[in-house]
Order: sequence, then C-alpha cells, then structure tokens
Amino acid sequence: MKISLCKHRFPIVAPGGSLFHPGDCSRCGITYRDHETELRRQEEALIVGSSRYGKCPDCGHNRRLFRFQPPAQPWHSPDEEMPVSFLCMGCYNTAADTHNAMVKGAFEEAAA
Ligand SMILES: [Zn+2]
Ligand SMILES: [Zn+2]
Repeated sequence: MKISLCKHRFPIVAPGGSLFHPGDCSRCGITYRDHETELRRQEEALIVGSSRYGKCPDCGHNRRLFRFQPPAQPWHSPDEEMPVSFLCMGCYNTAADTHNAMVKGAFEEAAA
C-alpha cells in the first residue's frame, strides 16, 4: 500500500480554500477530497483485512468479526488510543449507532 509521507496542509482560508471546502494541499497538491477518500479506503482496508472468524463478545454468536474502534473525538487527547473490539456485522452497526448517539448527546449537552 502506498502511503503518502506528506503531512498534508489544506488551506482553509481564501483564496486557496474555505473552512468547508479546503483547497489542495499546499505541499504535495493532493485534493482534500482525494485525501478523505484515501483515509476512508485505509480504514476500510484495515477493518476488512483484520476481520476474523470467532465468537462475538456482544451477542455470543460465532460469526465473522470486524475490528471496531470508535473514532477519537475533540475532547480526547491526540495520543489517546480508543479501545478496539471485534464485533459481528450486526453488533458492529449497533456499536457504531450507540457511539454516534453518545457523541451527538455530548454535543447537545455542551450546546445546552
Ligand atoms: Zn500533501
Ligand atoms: Zn454480535
């Protein structure tokens, strides 16, 4: 797998870009969209590549398990590692939904 060594810097101010549409990397020229696609591709490759058959800790069924790691949030320190678990597809989706609801709740609490 080819991994770019560039620590990308995307301009988020005019004229190069904006906060919602960052411009191309000022160092290597990769577009922000390509960068995001690449990140997602790497994440999916990691999840699929590390999938294994076993007993799901949540539902107790023997199924193909996928690596689940909740994404770090702004309130986590940058080097804080999120806990990794291996879940079947159904429990994976449930865990992702639960995580998203938790994050949404935390933001709503902060905004209240
Ligand atoms: Zn770059
Ligand atoms: Zn399960």
